[in-house]
Amino acid sequence: MDNQVEEIKKKLDIVTLVSQYLTLNKRGRHFLACCPFHQEKTPSFIISPELQIFKCFGCGKSGDIYTFVQEFEKVEFREALEILAKKAGVVLKKSDQFNAADNHRKRLFALNNEISRFFHYILISHSLGQNCFTYLKNRAISVATIKEFLIGFAPENDNLLLTYLRKKDFTENEILSSGCFSKNSYGRIYNRFKNRLVFPLFNHRGDVCGFSGRVLPGADSNQAKYINSPETEIYHKSEIVYGLNLSKNYIRESRTCIVTEGEFDMISPFQSGVKNIVAVKGTAFTQDQLLLLHRFCDSLVLALDSDFAGNVAALRSIELADSMDFDLRVLDLSPRFKDPDEAIQKDPEFFKERLKNPLYIWDFIINSAVARFGYETPKGKKQVLANVLPFLAKIKNSVIQSDYFKKLASAINSDIDAVYQEARKISLLVTSPSTLSPPPKLVSSTLEKLEENLLILLFSSKKPEKVAEKIKDRAQFSIDRFKTIFEFVKNPQKLPPELFSVYQNIYMASLLLDLDSKTRHRDIISTLDQIEIHKIRQELNDLSREIGKLDEDESNKVSKDLEIRYNKLLVELQKLQIKK
Ligand SMILES: [Zn+2]
Repeated sequence: MDNQVEEIKKKLDIVTLVSQYLTLNKRGRHFLACCPFHQEKTPSFIISPELQIFKCFGCGKSGDIYTFVQEFEKVEFREALEILAKKAGVVLKKSDQFNAADNHRKRLFALNNEISRFFHYILISHSLGQNCFTYLKNRAISVATIKEFLIGFAPENDNLLLTYLRKKDFTENEILSSGCFSKNSYGRIYNRFKNRLVFPLFNHRGDVCGFSGRVLPGADSNQAKYINSPETEIYHKSEIVYGLNLSKNYIRESRTCIVTEGEFDMISPFQSGVKNIVAVKGTAFTQDQLLLLHRFCDSLVLALDSDFAGNVAALRSIELADSMDFDLRVLDLSPRFKDPDEAIQKDPEFFKERLKNPLYIWDFIINSAVARFGYETPKGKKQVLANVLPFLAKIKNSVIQSDYFKKLASAINSDIDAVYQEARKISLLVTSPSTLSPPPKLVSSTLEKLEENLLILLFSSKKPEKVAEKIKDRAQFSIDRFKTIFEFVKNPQKLPPELFSVYQNIYMASLLLDLDSKTRHRDIISTLDQIEIHKIRQELNDLSREIGKLDEDESNKVSKDLEIRYNKLLVELQKLQIKK
């Protein structure tokens, strides 16, 4: 197995691989991109073809082709290995190493796949699916679309599916952990989705993770309109973006994603040619969903139900998306239509026309509050302010924010100072926007930082060994790991394996520097000076502490020596500081 891991690594180039996921820019000997694992506008994600590794200097993530695929596709090592083996054209040998847990996940995906095929078969080829089929036809969903989304129908009789799955050798345990079935208090296994139209929920790679079931017209009104799979090993609601498996390439091309609330709102426009579209199920998106979407685009067009602006969960989502630097717009279909599905059915041209000029989110929020509460009365004004200010208070960019305060003031026919005053009250109440975790610190003390910097500067030159030779007398490293690396640069033999990652960090950081040789030289000298200044200061501190400790009885000679040393250091320090 280890051999195959290496074999695949040799066959695949990390630059070619990553460029299938991200847009790369060549910069000298390496490639740069905006990091897919945290939010950023200036690229700090760097790929070295020489070392065949990547590293992000924003969030600290780093690794090789396997780590990249694991992180990007959110899969375990074994799955990453399989994905890469396929790309490399390597047939993996069977191994016991990747055992039960992994097989179990695979079995669950296979099981869900069988279940969705079964439901789909019932819907399109069996008389039991007739009603449901008619329902879809009435909603103008074509057979081609039913097939593309693998839509199905779960019949009343549980045994049909159970028998089918048992014939395929799935165990009762597996059947229960698929999330499609439950056990009642008599120990009988039943299908949660029975008598429902079923949408398989795919992850963005196209595996069925779970299901969503909708009641059909005429069903018992006590039933929930929609039910979803419970959380299982392979279904995590907060990570699924419905339809992304089919729309991701269109989203990547247009850099824009239309976000709807439900399956039909996504499917109908998709069927009519609006392909860069997904559904998030409800008005709130999670950070995981947003991070996933950010891999493909930077703009979101929210096509949500018209009353979403009054919704607390929506506020949080918008705030989150704004903090992640998404450009946020709203496709406002009101008052003519209540949702995208209805709009595309009744007037596709109107839908597409509106889509060309979606409203900025903040304009939409102001407009919809004014329409709802009116601005003619003091009460209306108050309500508009109370509804809109919490949104505006959280706009990250202060220039944009002040523009919208002005717009709001004029929309309610009020003066800007009054709006500001209210905003100040609100901003004290509003909690700070949820931010991503701060990037991990790479080095701690000043001296560590300086010595690391020196090495980074060294590596940024074309011939580090030559520069190292020149400065070797002055470069006295006090941090052991940096000292070893410095020796390694002068005399490249074997680097102790425990220092590989330190070395890689420094090397990758050096790739980010773009210095001409003159600037580099100047920076190296200045870093050497700073290191010396730092050391002298430390020594001065130590000396003065020692001198302070000496009492009168102790030999004058000792204190004299210390004082001489102290004064000498002071002179050196002054020289260095003047030079600086
Ligand atoms: Zn990063």
